[in-house]
Amino acid sequence: MAKTIIIGVNHAGTAAANTLLGNYPGHEVVIFDPNERTSYLGCGTALYIGKQIAGTDGLFYSSKEALESQGAQVNMQTTVTGVDFDRRVVTARTIEGRVIEETYDTLIFATGSSPITPPIPGTDLDGVHFVKTYNDGQVIDRKLSDARIKSVAVIGAGYIGVEMAEAAKRRGRNTMLVEVQGQSLTGYFDKDFTSGIDAALRGGGVDLHYGEQLLEIKGDEEGRVRAIVTDKGEFNVEMVVLSVGFRPNTELANGLLELGEGGAFKVNLNQQTSRPEVFAAGDCATVYNNATGATDYIALATNAVRSGIVAGHNAGGTPLQSAGVQGSNGICIWDYKMFSTGLTVEKAKEKGIDVGFSDVEDLQKPAFMADNDTVKLRVVYDNESRRIIGAQLASHRDVSLGIHLFSLAIAKGVTINELPLVDIFFMPHFNQPFNYITMAGLTAK
Ligand SMILES: Cc1cc2nc3c(=O)[nH]c(=O)nc-3n(C[C@H](O)[C@H](O)[C@H](O)COP(=O)(O)OP(=O)(O)OC[C@H]3O[C@@H](n4cnc5c(N)ncnc54)[C@H](O)[C@@H]3O)c2cc1C
Repeated sequence: MAKTIIIGVNHAGTAAANTLLGNYPGHEVVIFDPNERTSYLGCGTALYIGKQIAGTDGLFYSSKEALESQGAQVNMQTTVTGVDFDRRVVTARTIEGRVIEETYDTLIFATGSSPITPPIPGTDLDGVHFVKTYNDGQVIDRKLSDARIKSVAVIGAGYIGVEMAEAAKRRGRNTMLVEVQGQSLTGYFDKDFTSGIDAALRGGGVDLHYGEQLLEIKGDEEGRVRAIVTDKGEFNVEMVVLSVGFRPNTELANGLLELGEGGAFKVNLNQQTSRPEVFAAGDCATVYNNATGATDYIALATNAVRSGIVAGHNAGGTPLQSAGVQGSNGICIWDYKMFSTGLTVEKAKEKGIDVGFSDVEDLQKPAFMADNDTVKLRVVYDNESRRIIGAQLASHRDVSLGIHLFSLAIAKGVTINELPLVDIFFMPHFNQPFNYITMAGLTAK
């Protein structure tokens, strides 16, 4: 009977385990994770901290019991401390200090990522928080109930920072959002596309400090946060949320597996690392980016689930290949919504790709429809091949499904020249006869 050990059971680990347990009867599955619970949807953290949802119960979609009922051996509150790749043995330590050794035929790393600590003084002060686990969110939630916390500095205006700034503001705190780049959501949206989300943040009362670098966090005599220092000044705050990015958890391999983009485990389309019996999936692994045709590092739950499924099938003996990713994503701040897939113009330029782009700003529906709103769309294409390699969408309306069309277009190599004749239905409740997607194709140079 073949045996697979899965290290880490959040999204990638849960997907790999369910794939093995559901498709390969008799396959032995052993799981290790230091947390108490499995499969936490981090996307809900800002929502419950900001009191937009009632609680955290619905944020777990699997459990130790559910995996065990399918036949897995699940060791929660147990951390893997070492892997002997030659002997194929994993060593782990329980929370009580008991040491466990398990052999494997195949091994799946689903160890995910950890928040990056910026190299500045004061990150160990009481009142400095990271946002990753269920427990991280619980601690922040409790702190925001403390009336002594009047002002919060959120550092980093990526997805998590922007959402946490909204959440802190919704809890009635003076909130500043500090970002070293001159814009929010760098990498996902071009600067001229983020004005809508910044207007939503400002409108909600968040104080935006873009193009400003955090230099130090200062504490009082009891070791509690009292201020932050940036290159523009000193600001009194009682709480700091650090959200400056994530790094893949790869230390367990001890340099014995090849690393790729972002320092993640380098994997092929079968999620196989440089050792064929060892797989990696989710935030600890690289992905194949269809927009660039190259290996990349894009940490998203969606990528984790899909790569976990692929790793599970390969560990189970079916040589399934990943379809690659486009890094599709979405965000909603107060009522403003933005979605993107593939490359921005800026990112494409960084990668040396000569791109053109087509911008459309129009009403979603015909002007005679009262229930209406503006939609902004940018489609990015390779000037030479004419292939669509990116798209950005924004509106107060949920126009998210449009981004999936562009995601598939990137994956399938559709050109901007093909876009105007794509069969897109018209119905006044939903769009215009010359809708924004068709118009992006028609107006492209
Ligand atoms: C606040 C927040 C909001 C997010 N929102 C979204 C969103 O809206 N959409 C989206 O697509 N993505 C979102 N993400 C990203 C998404 O959560 C990650 O991409 C996803 O969690 C990756 O899943 P994973 O299973 O690969 O890794 P992780 O979730 O990092 O899980 C890895 C697991 O491995 C365990 N582990 C690590 N080391 C060991 C060890 N030595 N032994 C045993 N176990 C170990 C960890 O404890 C953990 O349980 C968000 C992330 C955060 C933090």
